[in-house]
Amino acid sequence: MSTWEENVRKVIPYTPGEQPNQPDMIKLNTNENPYPPAPGVEKALKEMDMDAMRLYPDPAAYDLVHAIAQMYSLKDEQVFVGVGSDDVLAMSFLTFFNSEKPVLFPDITYSFYDVWADLFKIPYERPALDENFHIKKEDYFRENGGVIFPNPNAPTGVEMQLEDVEEIIRHNQDVIVIVDEAYVDFGGKSALPLIEKYDNLLVVQTFSKSRSLAGMRIGFACGNEKLIKYLNDVKYSFNSYTMDRTALAAGVAAVKDQAYFQETCNKIIETREWTKKELKALGFSFQDSMSNFIFAAHETCPAEKIFEALREKHIYVRYFPKGRTNNFLRITIGTQEEMQTFINVLKDYLK
Ligand SMILES: *Cc1c(COP(=O)(O)O)cnc(C)c1O
Repeated sequence: MSTWEENVRKVIPYTPGEQPNQPDMIKLNTNENPYPPAPGVEKALKEMDMDAMRLYPDPAAYDLVHAIAQMYSLKDEQVFVGVGSDDVLAMSFLTFFNSEKPVLFPDITYSFYDVWADLFKIPYERPALDENFHIKKEDYFRENGGVIFPNPNAPTGVEMQLEDVEEIIRHNQDVIVIVDEAYVDFGGKSALPLIEKYDNLLVVQTFSKSRSLAGMRIGFACGNEKLIKYLNDVKYSFNSYTMDRTALAAGVAAVKDQAYFQETCNKIIETREWTKKELKALGFSFQDSMSNFIFAAHETCPAEKIFEALREKHIYVRYFPKGRTNNFLRITIGTQEEMQTFINVLKDYLK
């Protein structure tokens, strides 16, 4: 190792799901939305003022912040936006997890959390989910440097009841509790109303899943004004212009079309419930998912085999070949037609 390498900040990076690009593929591996963004988004992008591209975008991202605040009846000062919720979450780790005590998050959860913790040298502990992949709330009632978990959790899809979420917040009023609600719009119950009651709660959401805008990179956090101010202080110390002009315009247009949003979320929920029944009939087991994916294991056929067989047919799902999850597939909910094909291919393979 060269001497200079000793002082390099080394990290083991997060591994994003692959982005294959075949015309006939069915892509069920990264929890994207199978439906296009709201029609207003296309219009907004077509109407972009090219000359304005010379100019920096609004550093405060006011239009988008305001649109999100209006949608949830919040004050603008209670909303922070970023380049996908990954950016918002990374900023939040940097801003709020600054204690010698360990931050707590589940052993099976979004695999970016430990990457950020390692990157920022934040100590952490990972209480184990129970045998049914449920978070044990009591594990979060002890002294710590902060708490974060997704609700519904990923990659399990399991939702924690809001009363239990509140109990975790109530036990942790001396630290920041972050609830990552990337999948809450698919039938879950948001902790957002609790931000008025707890000044230490940050709720993070994204436009990537329920609003079909993964390609635009838009995420946001809602919380007490003081939390949002601290987040902005860190953001402005890092990169003032996180949100570009196209993302701002697309985001505002997406928020304005609540009807389209509801309609597409409902379609995905319906297809999810249909897929659950079909998977059960084929011998799969899974915890009840409240997200846009199902985390399932087959009673006899190993996950890796099914993963490969699907892949041959250009159907991509996600497989996490390690630890307690190594016999599970995470299957994103596509359109009804896509899921029909997926189930047919499975039927054929498993018979
Ligand atoms: C997808 C996801 C995110 C990040 O989404 P962005 O595309 O960065 O907004 C954050 N948390 C969880 C649990 C996710 O599944």
